[in-house]
Amino acid sequence: MTIRLLPDVLVNQIAAGEVVERPASVVKELVENALDAGASRIDIDLEEGGARLIRVRDDGGGIAAAELPVAVQRHATSKIASLEDLEAVATLGFRGEALPSIASVSRFRIASRRNGDDNGNALQVEGGRVGEVAPSAQPQGTTVEVRELFYNVPARRRFLRAERTELGHIEEWLRTLALARPDVEVRISHNGKPLRRYRGDSASETGARLVDALGEEFSRNVLRIDHAGAGLRLHGWIAQPSYNRASADQQYLFVNGRGVRDRNVAHAVRQAYSDVLFHGRHPAYVLFLELDPRAVDVNVHPAKHEVRFRDSRLVHDFVYRTLQEALSGTRAGAQAGMPV
Ligand code: ADP
Ligand code: MG
Repeated sequence: MTIRLLPDVLVNQIAAGEVVERPASVVKELVENALDAGASRIDIDLEEGGARLIRVRDDGGGIAAAELPVAVQRHATSKIASLEDLEAVATLGFRGEALPSIASVSRFRIASRRNGDDNGNALQVEGGRVGEVAPSAQPQGTTVEVRELFYNVPARRRFLRAERTELGHIEEWLRTLALARPDVEVRISHNGKPLRRYRGDSASETGARLVDALGEEFSRNVLRIDHAGAGLRLHGWIAQPSYNRASADQQYLFVNGRGVRDRNVAHAVRQAYSDVLFHGRHPAYVLFLELDPRAVDVNVHPAKHEVRFRDSRLVHDFVYRTLQEALSGTRAGAQAGMPV
């Protein structure tokens, strides 16, 4: 066997295996880029559950024409420049992997215009082959189009599920986004029809969004949490024990604004509810944990679904105590905690 360096396109396609699982992962990466660019409004157009088209348009800062080809290169990012930056990273992205990965497994187009530029510019990438930058009509901000996801990776394409299933994954992730960023307006259309709209309202905080994202019933049965100490702050909403679920389908955790899954925190929550919830039932919650970015490593997973706490014991105990305290007044709720 000869040992050789893999061609760039193949390297990107391999990375895409980790970052781009399905259309929802593309939506996530593109929307996170829009948020990092300071967007206040994001429009998402989908066709066929995202398999045929995902278009994300934002009104953020935009990209200079000369930087478009750089943006679609591997390990190219404007968000960090050093290890110190990485250790205190406050943006959602930082790996410089999303655009090249997505562009290597789709027919990809990015168009952008910065505030004050006379015109916009666009760049097309076809299965990883980068074209030339050309002028293009474009309002201020960035539009990314991803067509025919996995068209050149049949093994991946076969894994795509029914339109409705893929759309469900996208909607679920957008619910996470809506909870995390009530200040940003998000509109979603599917097959040419408006599907959902989250109105941006920085004044109303997440409260109004709770109803939009999780429904009236959840919102009527929550306890407001806000507790700080030991360099940590935990705020958000937890459901009264009387409102409980057959599965863990309404459990949202954000660490410094990033939606993540964390066994340690999930365990702390379960423990806090253990006295007030019947076995086999699951609590519902939307919790925001804020801490020094240096106390949490966000670079443990290519898709960044997980984080690692420097002091996970401290985090566990803080979450447990905060929730237990909040729930202690609801002990009578144990009875009301009958399966619904
Ligand atoms: P990362 O987000 O990790 O930096 P990406 O591959 O997602 O890597 O994006 C590469 C770079 O392209 C970003 O660092 C940013 O400078 C630029 N970029 C991507 N999307 C947008 C956008 N919607 N608005 C402005 N700049 C963007
Ligand atoms: Mg990104």
